[in-house]
Amino acid sequence: MSKENAAIADRAKRARRIVKNPALYKVCMGCDSIVASKVNICPNCHAYRFECDENAVVSQARVLSSREQNSVVAEDLL
Ligand SMILES: [Zn+2]
Repeated sequence: MSKENAAIADRAKRARRIVKNPALYKVCMGCDSIVASKVNICPNCHAYRFECDENAVVSQARVLSSREQNSVVAEDLL
C-alpha cells in the first residue's frame, strides 16, 4: 500500500470512530476541524466557538474523510 493510500485509510478509520461516538467530539467553527469535546480552545486555530451538535460532527467527519486533508481531525490534536 502506498503512503498516500495508508493516510487515506487511516483518515477513514478515524472518521468511523468519530461517527460512532459523535458525543465525544465537536466541530471548530473557526477552521472546521473536529476536536475532542473536552477541548476549550481549538489547538489548530485558537477559536473558542464550536458546533457541538452530533449531526454536525457526523457530517463533518464524513466530509473530512472524503477529501484531501486540509483540516485536522481529533487524534492529530491529542
Ligand atoms: Zn479551529
